[in-house]
Amino acid sequence: MKKIIVYIVVSAAVISMCLGAAGCSTSTNVLAAQQSSENADSTEKDEASGEVLSASRDIFAMDTYMTVEAYGDHCQEAVDQAEEEILRLDQMLSTGSISSEISKLNQDGYGTVSRDTFYLIQRSLELYQETDGAFNIAVYPVMRAWGFTDQNYKVPDETELKKLISDMDLTGVVLDEKTYRVQLANDEMEIDLGGIAKGYTSSRIMDIFKSCKVESGMVSLGGNVQLYGAKADGSSWRVAIEDPNNLSGYAGILEAKNRAVITSGGYERYFEQDGKEYHHIIDPKTGYPADNGLKSVTIVSADGTLADGLSTSLFIMGKDRALEFWQAHSEEFDAVLIMEDGSIYITEGIENDFQTEQKSVIVRKEDSDE
Ligand code: AMP
Ligand code: MG
Repeated sequence: MKKIIVYIVVSAAVISMCLGAAGCSTSTNVLAAQQSSENADSTEKDEASGEVLSASRDIFAMDTYMTVEAYGDHCQEAVDQAEEEILRLDQMLSTGSISSEISKLNQDGYGTVSRDTFYLIQRSLELYQETDGAFNIAVYPVMRAWGFTDQNYKVPDETELKKLISDMDLTGVVLDEKTYRVQLANDEMEIDLGGIAKGYTSSRIMDIFKSCKVESGMVSLGGNVQLYGAKADGSSWRVAIEDPNNLSGYAGILEAKNRAVITSGGYERYFEQDGKEYHHIIDPKTGYPADNGLKSVTIVSADGTLADGLSTSLFIMGKDRALEFWQAHSEEFDAVLIMEDGSIYITEGIENDFQTEQKSVIVRKEDSDE
């Protein structure tokens, strides 16, 4: 008889660490929100003037726990707007809600969508091309076959998977930039923006921080972190990168400003059947969870949407292809790759910003054979 054990790690894969700074969120705050399941607020005020100096809120949306923090003028307004934006995008992009734009598009096979949805589909198609098909949003039927869409986990039949991946060719998707009309490639095709939507959401929150003219801010969407400016005292933010081989610890600390720091790892959502683990990041070439020795990939980039799309893509590619990809795009991002054996590969752009006590290799340009 099949024995299924289910694991879903809901804690942040990347924990925002604000060591020693007043008013900063920590993993403990995020966990407190999980327990109460309520959106929790906190503010810090100037005692003399009553002016709000910092504001933060814990929110549950997009199936995950989130924290938004802002500092300086208009910080409360920025946090309010950020929450509205998160809820708006969640409602629009969720495959779990039958009234979302994505669900309607999946039901009908075509439709006119909002600017946000159109932009995300367009970026996803670009990533599909650039990653040689590793990033493929037509993965939804495969996610369903594995039970990741309704928690009814099972290992699908190999012939079923072969059929499903044969319908995932995104080159047949037609986009009309003038009308935002999208036509999926075939009747079986259904899309899932789960590999990119949180990074887009965090980028949108950076736009809100900018338009509200806050001094600095941070958002952590289930461990996907994006940072606006420096911390209130002018120093860099410190982001702890979770150790996928020891979930109670972290693999290292990254110091960053104005960057998205986004991690993908099979350990975030998986089930176990007959002693084998199956996670939620699918290699479109096989229909099976990517299995190549990588345990997690963290992408550091100014572009949150790109960072999210690439964390998923490089995790599927495996170490060698991932580092080759970095060689070709090193101006756009940096990466931390953590292997099953605990070894860590750090690309040279963040060599002085990422501190780890574990065995690590700095990957330099045109030096990807290490
Ligand atoms: P992330 O945590 O950003 O790596 O996203 C994982 C999610 O992306 C999964 O839960 C799926 O919704 C979706 N996904 C899985 N495999 C792929 C793939 N090959 N390309 C694009 N999205 C994927
Ligand atoms: Mg991703």
